[in-house]
Amino acid sequence: MAIASVNPATGEVVEEFVEMGEAEIEARIGRADAVFRGHRGDSYDSRARFMRRVAELLDAERDEVAAVMTGEMGKTLVAARAEVAKCARLCRFYAERAAGFLADEPADAEAVGARRAYLRYEPLGPVLAVMPWNFPLWQAMRFAAPALMAGNTGLLKHASNVPRTALYMGELFTRAGFPEGAFQTLLIGSKSVERVLSDPRVVAATLTGSEGAGRSIAAIAGRELKKTVLELGGSDPFLVLPSADVEAAARTATTARTQNNGQSCIAAKRFIVHADVYDAFAEAFTANMAALRVGDPTAEDTDVGPLAQEQGLRDVTEQVEDARAKGARIRCGGERPAGPGWYYPPTVVADLTPDMRMYTEEVFGPVAGLYRVADLDEAIDLANATAFGLGANAWTTDEDEQARCIAELAAGAVFVNGMVTSHPELPFGGIKSSGYGRELAALGIREFCNAKTVWVG
Ligand code: NDP
Repeated sequence: MAIASVNPATGEVVEEFVEMGEAEIEARIGRADAVFRGHRGDSYDSRARFMRRVAELLDAERDEVAAVMTGEMGKTLVAARAEVAKCARLCRFYAERAAGFLADEPADAEAVGARRAYLRYEPLGPVLAVMPWNFPLWQAMRFAAPALMAGNTGLLKHASNVPRTALYMGELFTRAGFPEGAFQTLLIGSKSVERVLSDPRVVAATLTGSEGAGRSIAAIAGRELKKTVLELGGSDPFLVLPSADVEAAARTATTARTQNNGQSCIAAKRFIVHADVYDAFAEAFTANMAALRVGDPTAEDTDVGPLAQEQGLRDVTEQVEDARAKGARIRCGGERPAGPGWYYPPTVVADLTPDMRMYTEEVFGPVAGLYRVADLDEAIDLANATAFGLGANAWTTDEDEQARCIAELAAGAVFVNGMVTSHPELPFGGIKSSGYGRELAALGIREFCNAKTVWVG
């Protein structure tokens, strides 16, 4: 795929970019390595000062950056501004907390026959980040802020359809005071990832994206014996049980499914509803979904903009048509609006059966699958009957049911009576085909550190 900024609301090519060649890749890796060696010992205070400055720049440039994101991947401007603000909050969080998260951890010296024994966290070196287009600033910042605070350097290979956001990020950290080369963008296609990850100076990689990309990067990293963190797709369940506040659940379900125009790994995708409240939930949810305003992502009152890529629109359309052809009931949506742009309407599909693609595949668009179950056992079995394991939502006020959902839902996160959301304070990541490793919080910053054991006799 060519590296280009294409407006999903119109299909118009806004700007095309030439991929960086070998000389430029080599120069950037060299710089990332040199800067790491020179600055790995810098104090947390100086890094925190620069990271706070990153936050200030994001605050000051919020509207401008938001417009860039909306213009190349179609999220609403309202959502784009919120994403920029969240990134600023993340930078301040790690500026404040990194030193504490990475402070030496004393161990029981006496038990191991030492005068002193402790754990010390050290940065690893240049880390490659392969990032997706869906939250173009947040996904990359979720890697960059902790990585730079820990003393690593970063090389960003962003998705080929968000080059403008990638270039903005490539300059942001230097503008804030980090040494030139601490964080750089590589304008390269996915074919060049192997060259970068195989380079001995690049010590690790993180990827957020599809399962296929995850397998490919894990294979290269496995051969090279390099650490990876993988945050891949998800098909999060959203359980609604009889004690739930059904109206509140239906409202949150609507947001959870259509946030970011339906293109979020942690969007709730499979709505698994107890028979006692199925009709009430299905009606309220369908009405909410049908009432959403679809259209120009730059308009302040738009709820759902276009999908980011033409291929994504084709995939979602085919998944819904496959279900329809095999007997599913389309409760709302399901018909593309006429006119330009890669729009797909909020859609609710019921009566899904295992032979339909939607039953097992992730749907990366505003399309909800609705399932009726007889009891909690069936709800949990169905929730776990997926290759993915990213997040899970459970709506119940019954404490025993809550305890069972927390213990038995196979996912990296369980949110009860709320919607799976990422927060700087909470670790984020999945199990099974959703990947491995954790981002955010203390676990996130330690992923790309050497936890060095020190024993002094
Ligand atoms: P991809 O996984 O193809 O893209 C994500 C990133 O990985 C991009 O930078 C891409 O580069 C790169 N990439 C793709 N293939 C390889 C590879 N073989 N080796 C190395 N790097 C690679 O996601 P798409 O954008 O195509 O989206 C498709 C699906 O991915 C979605 O339907 C969804 O399931 C999942 N996805 C999940 C996301 C999440 O947040 N977990 C985010 C986005 C997508 P390039 O753009 O140059 O191809």
